Amino acid sequence: MKLFDVHTHIQDDRVRDIRAAIMARAMAAGVDRIMVCGLHEQDWDQVLAMAHDHDCLVPSLGIHPWFIQGRSVSWAEVLRKKLETHGAAVGEIGLDRMIPDRDDQDQEQVFVTQLNIARDLGRPVNIHCRSAWGRMADILKERGGLPQGGIIHSWSGSADMVRVFEGFGASISFSGSVTRPDNKKVRKAVCSVSRDRLVLETDSPDILPTGVNAMLNEPAFVRVVLESVAFLRHESVDEVAAYTYDNAMRIFSACENVHAPKELHGME
Ligand SMILES: [Zn+2]
Repeated sequence: MKLFDVHTHIQDDRVRDIRAAIMARAMAAGVDRIMVCGLHEQDWDQVLAMAHDHDCLVPSLGIHPWFIQGRSVSWAEVLRKKLETHGAAVGEIGLDRMIPDRDDQDQEQVFVTQLNIARDLGRPVNIHCRSAWGRMADILKERGGLPQGGIIHSWSGSADMVRVFEGFGASISFSGSVTRPDNKKVRKAVCSVSRDRLVLETDSPDILPTGVNAMLNEPAFVRVVLESVAFLRHESVDEVAAYTYDNAMRIFSACENVHAPKELHGME
């Protein structure tokens, strides 16, 4: 069995001392690709260096809505340049209407700027959306969706919204939140996702799945997410593993370490 954890932050300092062990446990659990999503300008070089050193790590660069206030004046230019020389996805980017002291207009502007960069360079996106489903749908609709593809990570929307976002060309990613028995909305939504649009993630080191005895989440636990998703969809674990892996490989095929050897990664 091969698995692709499409959303993690294993560049996080909390796992610095155990990162090698985490990666070894992931490989032993069948996880052969791990996407590492940058959060702000300060971690982009670290994400790229990690992907350079480890063939199993797929880089993604972006500014997360929680960190837009700390951005530099030249952030967009810096991001575009790094993406022009590295085969990274764009993310984690998005909208979050649950954080205090936020500036919604500023969030949208930073999000749209990153969507533009992703579209210009033909890169898939890794999107965060909390309590902003209507606005997120409007923005994607105005732009003609996501022709280059991408995922909505740790899906927390309704089953009806799954259809809307699939219509925009997005794929739907489930995290440990789907393993919580009381999370009825997400457990219903997972049954409405098309087979060719479903992917799995951990969001390590956060969102520890239910029943896992650990302090921090790690990519090996994507198997627990897989088991919940297979159970809820009345499908076999092997079947869900196979098609979610194929989906992730297709969605992120433009990225370093997904298909081509590193030497061939000079972008067009
Ligand atoms: Zn994340």
